[in-house]
Amino acid sequence: MTLGVADALARVRSRVPVLPAEAVELRSARGRVLRQDVRADRPQPGFDRAAMDGFAVRAADVASAPSAFPVAFEVRAGQWPERALPAGAVARIMTGAPVPEGADAVVPVERTRGVDDGRVELQVRPEAGQHVAPRGSEVAAGERLLTPGRRLDAAAIAVLASVGVARPLVGRRPRVALLVTGDEIVPVDATPGAAQIRNSNGPAVTALAEDAGAEVIDLGTAADDAAALLSALARGLDSADVLITSGGVSAGDYDLVEPALERLGVSLDFTRVAIKPGAPLVFGHRGDVLVFGLPGNPVSSQVTFDLFVRPALLAMQGASGGGRLRLFARAEAPFVNRSGRENHVPAALRFGPEGALVRPLRSQGSGDLAAHARADAIVVLAAERTAVAAGETVPCWLLPAVLERDAEEA
Ligand code: AMP
Ligand code: MG
Repeated sequence: MTLGVADALARVRSRVPVLPAEAVELRSARGRVLRQDVRADRPQPGFDRAAMDGFAVRAADVASAPSAFPVAFEVRAGQWPERALPAGAVARIMTGAPVPEGADAVVPVERTRGVDDGRVELQVRPEAGQHVAPRGSEVAAGERLLTPGRRLDAAAIAVLASVGVARPLVGRRPRVALLVTGDEIVPVDATPGAAQIRNSNGPAVTALAEDAGAEVIDLGTAADDAAALLSALARGLDSADVLITSGGVSAGDYDLVEPALERLGVSLDFTRVAIKPGAPLVFGHRGDVLVFGLPGNPVSSQVTFDLFVRPALLAMQGASGGGRLRLFARAEAPFVNRSGRENHVPAALRFGPEGALVRPLRSQGSGDLAAHARADAIVVLAAERTAVAAGETVPCWLLPAVLERDAEEA
């Protein structure tokens, strides 16, 4: 049963359970998905706030500049002004302090000169409102500042802190059990024999899952052996919200993951998707537990994770976004797609004066994990789009490596 990417993703989405919400300390809220509305508990600023260190004045009192005024009193940040500003006087004021009643502008200290004691010379004529942030000018009381589904970053955490939400409600982290399969796979710290390879998918999928907010339970590596697979898969199904396997889902004689899952009561929703890389891709469920059988090829496993698993993990937490930035870019060089499937091509991306530009990277295909690590973006060529000429526009999604580009190169 081979599905198109959109249909396959729709099937995955239709099975995603939304996990319960829990309260967490702000300190550990980064990357979690907000599950509550956040409203302002008071106007922001809460008072007419001085935006500069200087002197609070009544603009209309300053008929000409320079002219000197008596300094009536001082207002520090955190202090309420002791009285209203008397006519014809100014008050010394600090950034963040409330502007006293009667004053309507702040003259920055750099534009003043102390004269005799108790008087200051203003060297400029202020305009009313200058360097004053009026009460409520940023945020009205009760205004909605954040909505459920927002993945919490520093900016959102600042908003939570500013309105006193010390323990925001966020989606519980999905528990992901990860099983790597393959007779040829050895641990990272082992020296591979002539026909062996190191387990790169385990660490890569762990990183991808944690990046998507999940907690990973490592089920280790199983040989291509029905009994070994059955016991490891059973452990995963009993302990996790999502079971992910790597390898063992293609058409080889020792690709035993699919039948083992079925024996354990997993209903398979699909087993192939019309994509390159990664056509063999298993998705199923047992009750609320989702199961993804990722192909063993390193690039296939990472790309299919991004396309199907990441959106599922984020949706389980209640996220509104899918976690990868999609955009259209202009091809700087031709792309070809002879696969007859939706093709995902590793690409270099740069931003020119006219916008984003992509070119294909040299890659040996779905095993070429080194090329994948060099890619800034994945260009998506629809099955029927067999050739893209330079200058044409293509859809793509950005990989995290694009952020590591030196600003000078961009
Ligand atoms: P499979 O999907 O099991 O047929 O594996 C496809 C290809 O991916 C084979 O070349 C495997 O050796 C390779 N492969 C499978 N599992 C891993 C892994 N954990 N790390 C790196 N490569 C793998
Ligand atoms: Mg295998």
